[in-house]
Amino acid sequence: MSSLNPHNCQKRVYHGRFLLSSQCSRKPWKDGWCKQHHPDSVVARIEAADKRYEEKRKESPWYKLAKALKRVAKLEAELTRFRSAHNLLRRGKE
Ligand SMILES: [Zn+2]
Repeated sequence: MSSLNPHNCQKRVYHGRFLLSSQCSRKPWKDGWCKQHHPDSVVARIEAADKRYEEKRKESPWYKLAKALKRVAKLEAELTRFRSAHNLLRRGKE
């Protein structure tokens, strides 16, 4: 483990196994971090991943099924309303 090179990003990068690490070789971008390892970027990346996860969740069959069932329930309610309105009309004619 060598000391950090101040001319490089301060992030330690792990190579597969945890015991092997070296300093990030990128040039610092802000506060001694490269653009990829700056805490702001890390937070932004996590938020982007959350957003992707949320989008992926919406793509999942279970989510689609739940949505479809909700739509079916709504259509059935509409159909029931329509049928009773239709029955009222028919009764009016008789
Ligand atoms: Zn870095």
